[in-house]
Amino acid sequence: MKTENPRFAYDAYRRFIQMFGDVVLNVERKRFEEALGKKKAAFGAKTDADLPADALKELVAEYKAITKQHGGIDFPDDPKEQLRLAVNAVFSSWNNERAKVYRRLNSIPDSLGTGVSVQSMVFGNMGATSLTGVCFTRDPGTGENVFYGEYLVNAQGEDVVAGTRTPKPIAELKKEFPTIYEQLHRVGLRLQTYFKDVQDMEFTVEEGTLYMLQTRTGKRTARAAVTIATDVVREGLITKEAALLRIDPGQLDQLLHPTIDPKAKSRVIARGLPASPGAAVGKVVFNARRAVALTEEGAERVILVREETSPEDIEGMAAAQGILTARGGMTSHAAVVGRGMGKCCVVGCNDITVREEERHFTAGDVIVKELDPITLNGTSGEVMLGEVALIKPQLTRSFKQLLAWADQTRRLRVRANADTPQDARVARDFGAEGIGLCRTEHMFFGEERLPVVREMILAKDVTARKAALAKLLPFQRQDFIGIFEVMEGLPVTIRLLDPPLHEFLPNTPEEQERVSKQLGIELRTLRETVNSLHEINPMLGHRGCRLGITYPEINEMQAQAIFEAACELWRDHVKVVPEVMIPLVGHPQEFRLAKETIDAVAKRTMARYKLTLRYLVGTMIEVPRAAVVADRIAEDAEFFSFGTNDLTQMTFGFSRDDIGKFLPHYLKANVLPADPFVKLDQDGVGALIRIGIQKGRATRKGLKVGICGEHGGEPSSIEFCHRAGLDYVSCSPYRVPVARLAAAQAALRNK
Ligand code: PEP
Ligand code: MG
Repeated sequence: MKTENPRFAYDAYRRFIQMFGDVVLNVERKRFEEALGKKKAAFGAKTDADLPADALKELVAEYKAITKQHGGIDFPDDPKEQLRLAVNAVFSSWNNERAKVYRRLNSIPDSLGTGVSVQSMVFGNMGATSLTGVCFTRDPGTGENVFYGEYLVNAQGEDVVAGTRTPKPIAELKKEFPTIYEQLHRVGLRLQTYFKDVQDMEFTVEEGTLYMLQTRTGKRTARAAVTIATDVVREGLITKEAALLRIDPGQLDQLLHPTIDPKAKSRVIARGLPASPGAAVGKVVFNARRAVALTEEGAERVILVREETSPEDIEGMAAAQGILTARGGMTSHAAVVGRGMGKCCVVGCNDITVREEERHFTAGDVIVKELDPITLNGTSGEVMLGEVALIKPQLTRSFKQLLAWADQTRRLRVRANADTPQDARVARDFGAEGIGLCRTEHMFFGEERLPVVREMILAKDVTARKAALAKLLPFQRQDFIGIFEVMEGLPVTIRLLDPPLHEFLPNTPEEQERVSKQLGIELRTLRETVNSLHEINPMLGHRGCRLGITYPEINEMQAQAIFEAACELWRDHVKVVPEVMIPLVGHPQEFRLAKETIDAVAKRTMARYKLTLRYLVGTMIEVPRAAVVADRIAEDAEFFSFGTNDLTQMTFGFSRDDIGKFLPHYLKANVLPADPFVKLDQDGVGALIRIGIQKGRATRKGLKVGICGEHGGEPSSIEFCHRAGLDYVSCSPYRVPVARLAAAQAALRNK
């Protein structure tokens, strides 16, 4: 024998059977782990490395028995047969469930296929001068420029990545094996310079000789990605443009995630390793299936608590708010996957004992049952009992730097959908350059306002309706003043009332009774009105501009509030240019009528204030007909904003509210590549947008065109908007940074 070391030989042998059993014969790993645990107890061994050769020899026999019992065949002795079965197993793994889920989560086509490379091995378990580890050229959690990683002496790679033993930090390698450390560090830097990016490397030292097993681009948190991207530009490794293209805009979301409010009271019950930053609150579940089931359609927020995770858990991890594992290190499965998903994750939490079958975990004398709420702090590794208050994230210098580069690069402007001064503030802090959609109906739901809105809807005649509207006017005016003030002269698009009126009325008998008393209206009359406003297809019913045409006094009040607010601000030298937007227009005449009302009010109001100010009246394009007759609509409309939520709904004929019933089937059966309410359907809805822009600008050269549907914050849709020649995208305040980066990438990719 080459090594004359029976302990090593039996250790290698038992590892081989275990891995072969797991990967090739689908024997559950825990069966081997149990046998190993028992053996360690019997021999009084603290770690695997403490097991003597005799113990390992026994283990080999036990492992073979396990393989036979649960894998169905005698463990093959012929190396060629072993190789053949192993190669086949790799090829079949392409089609197992977890690979399919992984591909779906990462948009990898099923047709890509996989390859197998066969390699000879080096052994990190050959004794005290052998070791194995994983290292990164920079800290993948923070992006800090430090050599980072973990290793285990007398062990094999699986022991590190599987998280079954807690490894030592790489800083200790410097003390324990200084020469190896230097060598490894040098190789790492060289690879990083060559690949121009952070490397994630696996290495093994066999009796004092360093072998590099593999290197790949290091997965990292969003925070690290941004720090690294800006650092490597400064170091001259890559250009600003390359740095911009390197960040996945969707990943920026992670930076915008909440952290624990330091002022909040909390009870820390355990501490683990801070594997992926951010904070998460949710109800405890103990397996991936429960996580998926409970979170379906956003019903619950859960925290997945496991002994350790493995690739089978991937869907549950994606569904959970955060992940907590009792075992594993900073490069364990849970840590790496959690970080990649941008999910708050605490691993190696030895303070807890997980009892999945009994549906609880213990931390000291605390018992946490399934569905009890807990809070995780992925930045400190703390596990807290109950729901702890979270606060908004703070943006780092690198983040601002990167977005400043994005702003220099993009052509598309980025606005926000915001309905209150508070939302507008958040939007501006995130870099919004205006408001692309202020949904005024959201201002109608305030506690003091709803009764007045109801009074307006229940009014017997125009006079009564006008009286109710007069009461709403000061509220609306104050809202607009607040928003204009925050936006300091940046464009603000205000949309007139859009939803069907029944949305403002009480639905349940109890509510109706309460409201009838509150408003002093007969219950019977109230019910009759509710019934009369009931619609079979409210989304296609009496809503949008149809409301303002049948009840012009509503538009009058809203326009008056807008122009009074604008005039007030002009008096204070804030130059606002209001953009009034009419929803759901399908026919040019609908727009014309609404615009006449607005212009008349604008004229009257400006005369009262003795001011002349510039304003625009434009339309949403969200009914397919509007896109088709955009040339006619543009005769009067001074801007367009594509409402792609409704435009998608009406182009597909898919109800926005009911698509959940069939969409999962559609996605599974590949009828659709993605949810069209998330990613713009470029072939269908996109074609209408192109027609709308081309026709609109044929009538009105240079017509300002934007988008304010949800797609305005989705990177692939933003790229479409760039190519189609839109002027701006508008999205929710938290997605503004995502949109700024996506718009820059679109400009770079379509140069
Ligand atoms: C739209 O339809 O895209 C839109 C922005 O309006 P809402 O979502 O309010 O219908
Ligand atoms: Mg709409």
